[in-house]
Amino acid sequence: MRRRHRVRLAVNLLNGSTLAGLAVSLAGRAQLARIPDGLLVGTGYRLPVPPAPAFTLGNVILARHDRLPRDTVLLRHEARHATQYAWCGGLLMLPLYFAAAGVSWLLSGDVGAWNIFERGAGLADGGYAAVPLRAMLRGRRTADGGRPRAGGQKRGPASMRSAWPRLRSWTSRTCLTDRQPLPVRRNSPR
Ligand SMILES: [Zn+2]
Repeated sequence: MRRRHRVRLAVNLLNGSTLAGLAVSLAGRAQLARIPDGLLVGTGYRLPVPPAPAFTLGNVILARHDRLPRDTVLLRHEARHATQYAWCGGLLMLPLYFAAAGVSWLLSGDVGAWNIFERGAGLADGGYAAVPLRAMLRGRRTADGGRPRAGGQKRGPASMRSAWPRLRSWTSRTCLTDRQPLPVRRNSPR
């Protein structure tokens, strides 16, 4: 096992998130199996919450599937969430995650697309679509994604026009962690 995976294993044991994962796995009657990098996979999870097909608590990845092959992109996505638990101090990640999901919904109407945790774990690997920002947030972008040209058509009320530069700066600091901005264009379908 690589050193960083040993550290993740130890940190998530100490912060209690893996123990919480084991308890939830037991409650959901999942079949646990060890996989490489110090992770555990529990398949056949039966409880109705959370509704997601797969989720992670500490180093425990839980899935509703009866089988979860080792080399799937979903497993790699969930493994990155296990690392996020170590960085976030364990179960403290849960309120942070839900706050990030709320921010993502406010920005785009989707709880995953602009969620800093899902973007860090890989949107496509987790089955999330790259949803652009809400129309009112991208109204000032030009077709090439840059600043509006001088004399260009002004859109939205004055208060929104003055708020836009601050909001864009804030979202770029909080959301574009993987340095690959979503393909936001004015003419996008949403
Ligand atoms: Zn995820």
